[in-house]
Amino acid sequence: MEIFDLSVTDLQARLRAKELSPLDALDALESRIASVDPKVGAYLSRDLEAARAEAAQADVSLPLGGVPIGIKDVINVLGQPCTAGSKMLEPFRSPYNATVIAKLRAAGAVPFGRLNMDEFAMGSSTENSAYHPTRNPWDLSRIPGGSSGGSAAAVAAREAFATLGSDTGGSIRQPAALCGCIGLKPTYGRVSRYGLIAFASSLDQIGPFARTTRDCGMLLNAISGRDPMDSTSLDQPVDDYTRLLGRDLKGIRLGIPKEYFVDGMDPQVKAAVEAAIKQCESLGAELVEISLPHTEYAVGVYYIIATAECSANLARFDGVRYGHRADAPKDLLDHYKRTREEGFGSEVKRRIILGTYVLSSGYYDAYYLRAQKVRTLIRQDFAAAYEKCDALVCPTSPDLAFKLGERTDDPLKMYLADIFTIAANLAGICGVSVPCGFGIAKGGDGEKDGVRLPIGLQFLGKPFDEARLLRIAGAYEQSTDWHKAAPAL
Ligand code: GLN
Repeated sequence: MEIFDLSVTDLQARLRAKELSPLDALDALESRIASVDPKVGAYLSRDLEAARAEAAQADVSLPLGGVPIGIKDVINVLGQPCTAGSKMLEPFRSPYNATVIAKLRAAGAVPFGRLNMDEFAMGSSTENSAYHPTRNPWDLSRIPGGSSGGSAAAVAAREAFATLGSDTGGSIRQPAALCGCIGLKPTYGRVSRYGLIAFASSLDQIGPFARTTRDCGMLLNAISGRDPMDSTSLDQPVDDYTRLLGRDLKGIRLGIPKEYFVDGMDPQVKAAVEAAIKQCESLGAELVEISLPHTEYAVGVYYIIATAECSANLARFDGVRYGHRADAPKDLLDHYKRTREEGFGSEVKRRIILGTYVLSSGYYDAYYLRAQKVRTLIRQDFAAAYEKCDALVCPTSPDLAFKLGERTDDPLKMYLADIFTIAANLAGICGVSVPCGFGIAKGGDGEKDGVRLPIGLQFLGKPFDEARLLRIAGAYEQSTDWHKAAPAL
């Protein structure tokens, strides 16, 4: 086994046993990146020298001691670029560390590399990056999902042991599903958002990608907790999220939300998810049919609330204090207009305009206020469901990874990629995607035999119930080999 194939858990054990050094781990990664990233395009930048200096000092006795962790380019690391996938922030260098970065370092980890993403985390394919698209390691003509496409592709392609991403409507779980790795969105308030460039503040949450649920738990252990710098981080005790791993599913009631098995989803996804649910039953879970009656409104509500919040959050990118600034403006208005026109891509502009509209006087009550009310109904659906079950199980994405360019002209089709992930953000609950099989991509572009593409199974847990969520996902994962498959790059 190559060093870059190791899980975080196994790498850390070898580092602790001094069979490997943190510099070995970093060098193995860097040579892997040099050989495969020209094809995959997961990274936007890396500062190997800074990482090597940090690795040389790493305390390998700590839980993540000496382990390099890739970071989505929307989380600030002091002195590093942080583009959010946008030209708007191209010359910017972070003047401070995000809380999750300080916490990773306190656990001994070495933040290494900046991962590609859709601009300001708006998108489901990473094609909205202002730099380059990231490609799916299983089929380079396809998208890796988004917006954390770089974070997912890097883990799947063995260009990172584990990474951090952010999830506002599915941006961790959906790319994890399409790339065949594990992605966890923690409960809203579990992880500090301080130092995460905001997209939609009531929905955004940072979380880990890894190749095992145990590794996800280890990262969550490191990054969780109340932070005085983020008033929405909650003062809930931090659990050991690996504590319940290794158990079967006896005594677990799994809810199957009937609204999450829709007409029009890929039949291969449906079949793989149904087989996975049977597998959970054979591991001891009791299956319960559940209804989440307001599911059909989730995508609509999300695109009102998320755009409203982004129109406010992105107002700060005005070229005055940092980031892109237009040349030789005629006056202040011209400065604002041209800075924003030049700095933002078209999807970001679309959302700012939509968000400004739904917040404007005369429309606020009809759109924004109503959306907030429906959001409450969606949250209540989950609360009622959790009286009958311990977690929900459903698909993560309705489709396999699609072709680059296939949906770029059709924003509505792109928005539907998150149909099964968005409600969890609106309700604030936690969710995880684990690999549950493969589908065969159909025809097109000289594909005679079809390519194998990963399918993700999503578990949705109660607020702050990540330990049990990972127990459930881990029990399923350990009873299959899906998570061990690696793309042939
Ligand atoms: N794909 C969704 C969007 O475009 C979700 C993005 C995210 O979770 N950051 O908004």
